[in-house]
Amino acid sequence: MSKIFVISAPSGAGKTTIVRNILSKLPEIEFSVSATTRKKRSFEIDGVDYFFLSDEEFKAKIEAKEFVEWETFYGYYYGTLKSFINSRLESGKSVLLEVDVKGALKIKKEYPEAVLIFILPPSVDELKRRLINRKTESEIDLQKRFERAEMEIDFQSHFEYKVVNNNLENAKEKVFNIFNKELMKEK
Ligand code: 5GP
Repeated sequence: MSKIFVISAPSGAGKTTIVRNILSKLPEIEFSVSATTRKKRSFEIDGVDYFFLSDEEFKAKIEAKEFVEWETFYGYYYGTLKSFINSRLESGKSVLLEVDVKGALKIKKEYPEAVLIFILPPSVDELKRRLINRKTESEIDLQKRFERAEMEIDFQSHFEYKVVNNNLENAKEKVFNIFNKELMKEK
């Protein structure tokens, strides 16, 4: 049986590493590639990490109702494509979405059986330190991400599972165990 897993976390909480670990260990899970208008980072691949679209292309997809949910933040659009998710579910695969907290709640409305997992940073200060060290954002974008992180942490009560990333290895294992437990339920 196919399942939908949603992982949310403030940026800098270690979510990407945790997601990569799941995808490498559980081949039956496919990453849901979102669309975005933000600029591609040097290590990202179009069609793999995101579908990088222009504002016009993104807006046309909103008009055509091609998104399950979409949000704008940091001045950019981000959205989950209906066609991507549904085609995977129809072929019996499970999907893993990495979206912001509001997107996660919208997914849950659309797909009530979705499993929501929230990754928490050990503290807001630690999160800021990680974001600064990552050196992928400008000063203005960093400031926006700090503010957003505080708002996102307030949303955690809506999630079925919460994992504090004190230690990346432990957090990876905890999330992996959640996936196994949920996948076992289906059998
Ligand atoms: P980043 O720019 O660091 O890749 O992502 C910024 C934020 O956008 C993260 O919180 C990420 O989870 C979220 N995000 C990525 N794709 C989507 C999406 O399709 N929908 C929503 N709502 N958020 C997304």
